[in-house]
Amino acid sequence: MQLLLAIDFNAPTALGVPLGVLILIYLVMRTLQQNQGGGGSIRRGPTVPGVRCPHCQWNPAAPDYWTCDCGRSWNTFDTHGKCPGCHKVHSTTQCLSCGNFSPHNHWYR
Ligand SMILES: [Zn+2]
Ligand SMILES: [Zn+2]
Repeated sequence: MQLLLAIDFNAPTALGVPLGVLILIYLVMRTLQQNQGGGGSIRRGPTVPGVRCPHCQWNPAAPDYWTCDCGRSWNTFDTHGKCPGCHKVHSTTQCLSCGNFSPHNHWYR
């Protein structure tokens, strides 16, 4: 236990981000691998105004993210479905709450 308590979560790493952030990323990646077919992750945070799932009325939060085929993760409502990595436009968006796919335009109210 002494060793665990000695970990400084704010200690800078070789990547220039705090150790705690790296551990968080590791935990998120592990969760994603366990939930095959998820395609994204629900996180807490301020919600995106005017955006709701056409199926279950779920309101995404700003820190929620979707993953592109190219491996890039971002909030698809920041770019209207356009991947910032490979610039592919995703015409359908999967709900992270109910799992249904809907045309991206149908999310805007
Ligand atoms: Zn992409
Ligand atoms: Zn939904």
